[in-house]
Amino acid sequence: MTRYLQNIKSNAHLNAFLSVYEEEALTRADDIDGKIKNGTAGKLAGLVVGIKDMLAYAGHPMQAASKILSGYKPPYNSTVVQRLLDEDAIIIGRQNCDEFGMGSSNENSAFGKVLNGLDNSRVPGGSSGGSAVAVQMDMCKVSLGSDTGGSVRQPAAFCGVIGLKPTYSRISRYGLVAYASSFDCIGIIGTHPEDIAGVLEVVAGNDDYDSTGSNTTVPTYSQLIQQKQEQPFTIGYIQETLQADALQPEIRDAVAGTIEKLKAQGHAVKPVTFPYLNHLLPTYYILATAEASSNLSRYDGVRYGHRSQVVSDVESLYKKSRSEGFGTEVKRRILLGNFVLTSDFYDSYYTTAQKVRRLIRQSTRQLLNEVDLLLTPTTPSTAFPVNQTKTDPVEAYLADIFSVQANVAGVPAISVPCGKDKAGLPIGLQAMANDFMEDKLLRFAYLISQLN
Ligand code: GLN
Repeated sequence: MTRYLQNIKSNAHLNAFLSVYEEEALTRADDIDGKIKNGTAGKLAGLVVGIKDMLAYAGHPMQAASKILSGYKPPYNSTVVQRLLDEDAIIIGRQNCDEFGMGSSNENSAFGKVLNGLDNSRVPGGSSGGSAVAVQMDMCKVSLGSDTGGSVRQPAAFCGVIGLKPTYSRISRYGLVAYASSFDCIGIIGTHPEDIAGVLEVVAGNDDYDSTGSNTTVPTYSQLIQQKQEQPFTIGYIQETLQADALQPEIRDAVAGTIEKLKAQGHAVKPVTFPYLNHLLPTYYILATAEASSNLSRYDGVRYGHRSQVVSDVESLYKKSRSEGFGTEVKRRILLGNFVLTSDFYDSYYTTAQKVRRLIRQSTRQLLNEVDLLLTPTTPSTAFPVNQTKTDPVEAYLADIFSVQANVAGVPAISVPCGKDKAGLPIGLQAMANDFMEDKLLRFAYLISQLN
């Protein structure tokens, strides 16, 4: 416990944590020590977890890294936090992120950017950048982030750690700040697949507070990883992703090298074709912004958070509170989302994107019926320099090209470290699996950790 608290202090310049619950965590650690001695401790006794500033922890601040939620303290626990506490995990603090989860570099936070711990001139990825850096620099054992289009896997790749986005509906979203509800997933970041497995089996599963949650039984992932370790996988790698012009050559080499090692170990690996690579980003950004514009309409300055002081009537209260409270990227997304939903453009954008989403889902599932795992690089580049995407938001959107497929299709995906580039920056390898096959992804993560 003290080691994590010390690391948080000595890495304060990285800006990964927005609040640290030091006293509370130390008291809890003492109580849990007592329980361990009596043999009454829960499954996650003493596991130190950090949570993204998008997850409700009763009585503690939560702002989605936005000014619009200034001073907000949720009166209830998100389901994931409640389940962690019930099993005696310790919540050490809340972590910085891109405002409302919108971004790929963690430079869009009202509390300032987060820096990559390996190279402070580089971004950590986003939006769960604080959560990835916290694990990278040993400020907590595991972080809970959220992944709408890659926000757990992309920062995990940039920071050299493991990031799991489970199947949509596997983990209750109750108490997660909504960004784009048909994509939003709570995800887990850690350095060991066993830790991620242990947390997943506690937080996953049916929840009366989330009607989209799945009733599918939650397996004991931690046992499955060990039991099935010897079974070979059938693996398909999406060849278009390795041929993409924008792909950094060292990433191509690292992924190709890993594929050779997997073959040498007796896994069946073959190239597969996914025809919709170029349709992924437009589909995601049309639908996600449309959903965001609707979800974020609740921040009106009346019910909670920031309220403008210079208002003359109720309409100016809404307008000024929202203009002052939201940051530039969030405003851009609200405008884009409203645009694609206007009656003149609804069919050409929103309806079309829904149809393409269906094709992407079908094609992804079809591939996953033939193989256990689908591989791609997690990102087209390694961690890029701070300020690089500042003037061109589209460049930032391109960082999600390989990660959004799993969210558009709803399937689970994981990013695992797979070598480094010439500058020593980590490279991430992504694997996707069929619905509710998280155990395969965790087993794969374990396998790769033994290869490299
Ligand atoms: N970078 C993507 C976006 O900005 C994904 C964000 C996320 O997964 N929360 O929308």
